[in-house]
Amino acid sequence: MNKISGKNLYQQGDAKLNLNTKKRKAKKSLQIAIAGFLPKPRPRWYITSFMSILAISLQSGSNGNCIYVEAGGVKLLFDAGIPGIHAERRLAAKGRDIRQVDALIISHDHGDHVRHAGVFHRKYGMPVYATPATLESAVSRFPIGKLETTKNFRSGGNPLRFGGVTVQTIPTSHDGADGSAFIIECGGKRLGIMTDLGHPFEGLAHAISTLDAVFLESNYDPRMLQTGPYPHFLKKRIAGNGGHLSNMEAASLLAKSGKRLKWACLAHLSEQNNNPGLAVQTHRGIIGTGLTLYVASRYFATGILRV
Ligand SMILES: [Zn+2]
Ligand SMILES: [Zn+2]
Repeated sequence: MNKISGKNLYQQGDAKLNLNTKKRKAKKSLQIAIAGFLPKPRPRWYITSFMSILAISLQSGSNGNCIYVEAGGVKLLFDAGIPGIHAERRLAAKGRDIRQVDALIISHDHGDHVRHAGVFHRKYGMPVYATPATLESAVSRFPIGKLETTKNFRSGGNPLRFGGVTVQTIPTSHDGADGSAFIIECGGKRLGIMTDLGHPFEGLAHAISTLDAVFLESNYDPRMLQTGPYPHFLKKRIAGNGGHLSNMEAASLLAKSGKRLKWACLAHLSEQNNNPGLAVQTHRGIIGTGLTLYVASRYFATGILRV
């Protein structure tokens, strides 16, 4: 019997065959094709090449950050700036069990990213990944408690590997001890987690252009920041090279991103100096309507975002 593939099944619509012959042959071929396709085990590469990355922002902002990512059977949490019980409940609401998480990866030593790492580690049994400088600073500044299993990485060094998932770390210019942004890759799909960036540093726009989707910091509106209630030193810090990205800066990066990027989730929005409507309006004014935009809430989880 000839091997039937989806391609030659499709090609049987040849004009030389009469209608009945065509229908009979197509039906028979379809049966063989279905019978041939269903029970055949696929090699792992076949499965992973069609797998997507799932991501949920559980909370985003200076009041606490935590992003869940699932890909290739691997479950990761990025940052532990919210109480463990909030992360547990928000994941459960999406049908996910926090105890199944394989690793907690910390971006930097600020409290809104690391404060609850000890609880995540001890209560839910996840190893903590951080750079040595981040860990040392975090432990000295916050009552994180004992961490049994910590794994070091060097920001910008070799990617972390979890099964078929790699996590590339990118040093940022934010004023943490040793901050990182992340690119998660699985089955050819690439997701960026890029907050607390400092300023649009060299290589950032290019990195975003290699992604299929990105959580991108869009922290403040410059006019709201300047006219708002923050003290002068804090305004200077936020707008400075080691602070956060404004709506315009984030939008300019997205405007350069090219065709690969399918969605961006605006993240780490300031309560005082920004709001979701204004952030989206600013982005639309600069990038137009071609890119799907989400906004990560300071108070709620996003839906399950697929890459
Ligand atoms: Zn932060
Ligand atoms: Zn920070």
